[in-house]
Amino acid sequence: MKRLAILGSTGSIGTQTLDVVDRYPDKFKVEVLTAYRNVDQLIAQAKVHKPDSVVIVNEEHYKVLKDRLSGLPVKVYAGIEAVSHVIAQKGIDMVVAAMVGFSGMRPVIKAIEQGKDIALANKETLVVAGQIINDLAKKHGVQIIPVDSEHSAILQCMAGEADNQVEKITLTASGGPFRRHSVDRLYHVKPEEALRHPNWIMGKKITIDSASMMNKGLEVIEAKWFFDLRPEQIEVVIHPQSIIHSFVHFADGSIKAQMGIPDMRLPIVYALGYPHRLTTDLPRFNIRECNKLTFEEVDTKKFRNLALAYKALEKGGNIPCAMNAANEVAVEAFLKKDIGFMGMPEMIETIMDNTWFIQKPGIEDLEETDRLSRIRAREYIEKMDVR
Ligand code: MG
Repeated sequence: MKRLAILGSTGSIGTQTLDVVDRYPDKFKVEVLTAYRNVDQLIAQAKVHKPDSVVIVNEEHYKVLKDRLSGLPVKVYAGIEAVSHVIAQKGIDMVVAAMVGFSGMRPVIKAIEQGKDIALANKETLVVAGQIINDLAKKHGVQIIPVDSEHSAILQCMAGEADNQVEKITLTASGGPFRRHSVDRLYHVKPEEALRHPNWIMGKKITIDSASMMNKGLEVIEAKWFFDLRPEQIEVVIHPQSIIHSFVHFADGSIKAQMGIPDMRLPIVYALGYPHRLTTDLPRFNIRECNKLTFEEVDTKKFRNLALAYKALEKGGNIPCAMNAANEVAVEAFLKKDIGFMGMPEMIETIMDNTWFIQKPGIEDLEETDRLSRIRAREYIEKMDVR
């Protein structure tokens, strides 16, 4: 029995993780659920899964949560500090990090320090603090298993290849809803259009990131830290059908790819069961019904964010942190129509280029870079006409 803490349980990955967990009552037990502010859903989840503890990060909702769970033997907490506190419990084997954005960094670090294995969906944490996370994981003998479908694919392709040299990897990208748009048209796209992803069901932040290709940019940096690769060993190709989830190219010229339907429950079940494959009754991909799989080059003039991510990866230090912070502000502003679609990369690049460089940032340096980058990003949006 694996005992789980699910951080961000009311989000898209969180709810799909609970869907997976429900299918294996003899294999998994939910001990901790945490949510940012969706108190109603957290209450509903707590009633079904009867965890040891729940945490609502936004403290305004504490009283409602406490009152409505008063009849159950569930410990109720509030605040971001409480998340770190509850995952330190002895009874937890694995932490599913499914919260969105930089705010996931501290809890993930805390979980690693407590020796908990991590199923990582919160890619921003690795983008910002990859070196720190990897050093800590090594020190504490912790496994970090990717939940991101592309990285799960690469991990699956690398199974049994420990001694074999990887030449490069190819991450696949669906291309999102704007794959065929001209640059001119991209200046005028609306949040509603960006939120309509053709293949994947995901949360808002990652759906906008997918439309702008920042998601793939974050994944390039994430791949560096997961698989210890140099920037030139990581390439991206557009694959609109989202059936091949990534490729690994080996030194002998052979290429392995991992395939499956675009359903996040597949990488989730692989991460939870790792290194074993659990039997599922999820829909199967029918090879006979698929008459073509296609691949295209990414146009980085159109999707500047991908080029920015490579630039951040090359520079290293705290620059990916600045890029991520600016992007988090950009996505929020885009959803509120305070910035246009093409204004996002413009703003992010300005913030990156004006960041005070720190070669080997510590946790506090990253928090300071994040804080300042957000302030500068908001100032930029206020001052400039970037709609
Ligand atoms: Mg992905």
